[in-house]
Amino acid sequence: MKNWFNRKTLLFIGAVIALLVVAGMMFFKPLTTAWMNSIVRSAMSKKNVQYEDGIYAGLCGTGSPMPDINRVGPCVSVLAGGHAFIVDAGEGSTRNVTLMNFPIGKTEAILLTHFHSDHISDLGEMELQRWAGGVNQTPVTVIGPTGVEQVVEGFNLAYQLDAGYRVAHHGPAVMPPTGAGAVASPFELSAEYNASVVVFDEDGVKITAFKVDHRPVEPAVGYRFSYKGRSLVISGDTIYSESLLEQAQGVDLLFHEALNVNMVNMMNQNADVSGSPSIGNITHDIPSYHSTPEDAAKIAGLAGVKQLVYYHIIPPLPSPILKNMFLGDARNYYTGPITMGEDGMLFFLPANSDKIEMKDLFK
Ligand SMILES: [Zn+2]
Ligand SMILES: [Zn+2]
Repeated sequence: MKNWFNRKTLLFIGAVIALLVVAGMMFFKPLTTAWMNSIVRSAMSKKNVQYEDGIYAGLCGTGSPMPDINRVGPCVSVLAGGHAFIVDAGEGSTRNVTLMNFPIGKTEAILLTHFHSDHISDLGEMELQRWAGGVNQTPVTVIGPTGVEQVVEGFNLAYQLDAGYRVAHHGPAVMPPTGAGAVASPFELSAEYNASVVVFDEDGVKITAFKVDHRPVEPAVGYRFSYKGRSLVISGDTIYSESLLEQAQGVDLLFHEALNVNMVNMMNQNADVSGSPSIGNITHDIPSYHSTPEDAAKIAGLAGVKQLVYYHIIPPLPSPILKNMFLGDARNYYTGPITMGEDGMLFFLPANSDKIEMKDLFK
């Protein structure tokens, strides 16, 4: 039998391997460069989204102040009739807004539900990206209940040095100095439990702020958006709220916060091993001013909403397997579709239709 592994064969194989290594070294850099360039080009082209007529609502943050590897702080982006808004600026949410290719540079207003840190902490970054993303000559408006002036003033001051650096580096044509920061647009609500006020009404797009109950945090509001026969409500932080029930009548989408008390109690009961003296107290206190998944489902059922979406989810869920445990008895109160909101979800309500489209931009 012929010996294929004689000296000549081995030399030939060695030469081929050496040739491949040299070729790999020669072409590795241009190949990876071309690959990277195609990734960047594809990502850039995705920013140029063409929108249809209707309401788009993106979940740019579905978490709470509790650190969650899967969810950043609360944030909902809304596009309707060519107008762009962001409701709340939870920690880390600016990254999601831009990763979801929301036209942040065109944002007309950021709306705040209340001034808990988890709803305002990304305000400075949100304002910066809006300024940089649109060569904006005027600052973005931040709409909120009384007190928003103080929050905006604080962020303006904190970001003043940064704004100066950006203008100096990129030049006023790219970063117009007049577009930095934000201007506050406060509104007042009367004393009634269901007080409401229209905060935006243009081109058929109407936004109503309404009182919710997040005491001792006052004022605290939710927002209702409507456009061409479609509507949605964003709860903000609240316990079961009659005022929210009134505003949510017949809406297509209800984004409602939710806290599972049993799960938070587990954190409370195990606080002793955390080594942190405050976790026990905090986990004891927080259920008192949030809604349970059942509370939100009751509202959805009584209001006849088309779809219920949980966001501001407490506590963090380490596995999707725990979804049903989180929901508890919610399905007893609402028979429509229930969605556990996740960062990156985008909902679309086409104008003058009853369709609800949903996709996950992060999967
Ligand atoms: Zn809150
Ligand atoms: Zn909150």
